[in-house]
Amino acid sequence: MREYQLKPVERQHSARPELSVFLPVFNEEENLNLLNARLTEALEQLRRTYEIIYVDDGSTDGSLAILRQLAADNAGIRVIALRRNYGQTAAMSAGIDHARGQILIPMDADLQNDPVDIARLLKKLNEGYDVVSGWRKDRKDKMITRRVPSMLANRLISAISGVHLHDYGCSLKAYRREALADVRLYGEMHRFIPIYATWAGAKVAELPVTHHPRHAGKSKYGLSRSLKVLFDLITIKFMATYWTKPLYLFGAAGLLCLAISFFALVGALYYRFVLDVHLNRMPLATLAMVMFGMGIQFIFMGLIAEMVVRTYHESQDKPTYLVREKINLEDDAGEP
Ligand code: UDP
Ligand code: MG
Repeated sequence: MREYQLKPVERQHSARPELSVFLPVFNEEENLNLLNARLTEALEQLRRTYEIIYVDDGSTDGSLAILRQLAADNAGIRVIALRRNYGQTAAMSAGIDHARGQILIPMDADLQNDPVDIARLLKKLNEGYDVVSGWRKDRKDKMITRRVPSMLANRLISAISGVHLHDYGCSLKAYRREALADVRLYGEMHRFIPIYATWAGAKVAELPVTHHPRHAGKSKYGLSRSLKVLFDLITIKFMATYWTKPLYLFGAAGLLCLAISFFALVGALYYRFVLDVHLNRMPLATLAMVMFGMGIQFIFMGLIAEMVVRTYHESQDKPTYLVREKINLEDDAGEP
């Protein structure tokens, strides 16, 4: 192919590169230079056009200054600085929105993922997949606070989503651009992209990748993350099933409560008038009233949810983050 004869810098200028590697960065000053050197070296060996997008997620250390320097030295390196710390998922959304490549590759900026694995991911993608998800088979993180909860979460996600992977949380993945069309991310949801993609008809594969211990800087997460992941899982399952018709779920719960209320009422009347038990000595009457109230509540909640869903679909798209500054990015690249 023609690009292969161009010199590296010229190749990197290409407006629509083949590969977009994007990395969320939050206080990674000790890692960035080495990371960038390793990443660039690995990408150069692929002999494909590429861009590297660093999304600075409101770092409070010297990360942004280092990124500025890297971008000044190399036009193939782009930087998006978010206004504050929005979290890894929002930073990844920013990366996805600004990526111009045909293949999108997210990665952590702390050297726990190995850039050398990109070649293998691409090879697997070429076997006819739309998404190749990294699997940290030999994960180098803390056992009790990270690996055990993660293992349980992975099993649960696999069972509930019906998309069977070993490691949803691994950042290093490769996506064909089409597989990410329309994906919007909230909370900790970047790990669910392969699930969304599968639901949208993509072919997903998993590939074991190298995982290094963190040598510099600190991990930003602990046990509380698993809880967030659990709530996100409930949300996506709910969305996937009832997103366009929430009243089906709330209405069913409401009718169930009303039915219980009805039978409790019949029971209460039977005890009162046939067996002549006084009403205030009977839990059934209370049950009938509580269930009646809950049933009506559920139905109204469902109707409110229907309104919310319509507002969502019919109103303007709003990004989940605000950009402070863009470096080496033309305006036509994506979101304003
Ligand atoms: N990160 C981010 N915003 C945050 C937290 C983390 O952009 O609020 C980045 C971080 O710089 C790293 C990646 O997300 O590149 C993964 O974070 P970390 O290494 O702390 O997670 P772990 O590997 O411990 O799961
Ligand atoms: Mg890490």
